[in-house]
Amino acid sequence: MSYKYKGLIEEYKSYLPVSEKTPVVSLLEGKTPLIEAKNLASKIGLKNCKLYLKYDGLNPTGSFKDRGMTMAVSKAVEDGAKAIICASTGNTSASAAAYAAKSGLKCYVLIPDGYIAMGKLSQAMMYGACIIAIDGNFDEALEMVLDISKNYPIKLVNSLNPYRIEGQKTASFEIIEDLGDAPDYHFIPVGNAGNITAYFKGFSEWYELKKSTKIPKMMGYEALGAAAIVKGERILKPETIATAIRIGNPASWEKAENARDKSNGTIDCVTDDEIINAYKMIAQNEGIFCEPSSAASVAGLIKANNMGLVQENTIITCTLTGNGLKDPDNAIKYGVSQVHKTKCDINEIVKNMGI
Ligand SMILES: *Cc1c(COP(=O)(O)O)cnc(C)c1O
Repeated sequence: MSYKYKGLIEEYKSYLPVSEKTPVVSLLEGKTPLIEAKNLASKIGLKNCKLYLKYDGLNPTGSFKDRGMTMAVSKAVEDGAKAIICASTGNTSASAAAYAAKSGLKCYVLIPDGYIAMGKLSQAMMYGACIIAIDGNFDEALEMVLDISKNYPIKLVNSLNPYRIEGQKTASFEIIEDLGDAPDYHFIPVGNAGNITAYFKGFSEWYELKKSTKIPKMMGYEALGAAAIVKGERILKPETIATAIRIGNPASWEKAENARDKSNGTIDCVTDDEIINAYKMIAQNEGIFCEPSSAASVAGLIKANNMGLVQENTIITCTLTGNGLKDPDNAIKYGVSQVHKTKCDINEIVKNMGI
């Protein structure tokens, strides 16, 4: 009998809080590739390490948020919900809107006006969500939706919803399956800190079940202008080019610290310049186009390696959380190459080719 992939809930249902009654809402998320990045490893100067990129930007709506959303929306439907709501820097809104469209739920999204990448906004508009852009940041939007979800019959689908974390932990299962064991280090961007929490949960659960021999050191990276956990204080006006992690009061703050401490890992921060540098290096050396926020994981690896935190002969994984097509404006602004405009004339064209 041939094997047909039916999405991550079907794939991992014995590890997830679902039952035969759960009406699974899936866009066939998950099963994203773990791509070995030899060129990048050598550019970074890793010593005899194997480096793999978990390209979660290849999920149905272009980010890892789909892993959590298939769970959150399936459980919302199971609970009889008619509507869902989220605050979002963009990807959560795109994902929530898509799964709401698939399941027939009404979807409300609150976004910080002017701080959301065009690709993400266009998705929420196409899937037909009710989009409310506030003159505040993500943290303020999250406070609002928490309040609304308490007072109206609307389910919150931010990562405070525990089913989101459950769905997202499956990325760790896939990594263990692909490598045959857990890696030594896992690097990941940190915004609201749900994903680092989820990866740690996934790695821990399969370690307990003896499906791996270790739990990787969890290496989380915030953006310098939004580094609340690193600085130990809420950032009232977070600023970074990496809008998906432009968050000053991470909802899963303590859980992220727990993941760091229990795994002997690190939570540190990287500058916007380091993020842009990694963003370009990933595309130029590996042919993988991620969004700027995703590159915080690789920027973190470069920083950790320069600080001597990465041991020789180890296995390293980095999550690339979102697809580069989400944010064409930054790609065009920081592009590795530029466009040469010429007349439609062979001599002019060849001259511009530099040959
Ligand atoms: C949501 C998101 C993050 C941050 O994940 P958290 O769970 O909020 O820490 C990072 N990168 C991208 C592309 C995202 O969409």
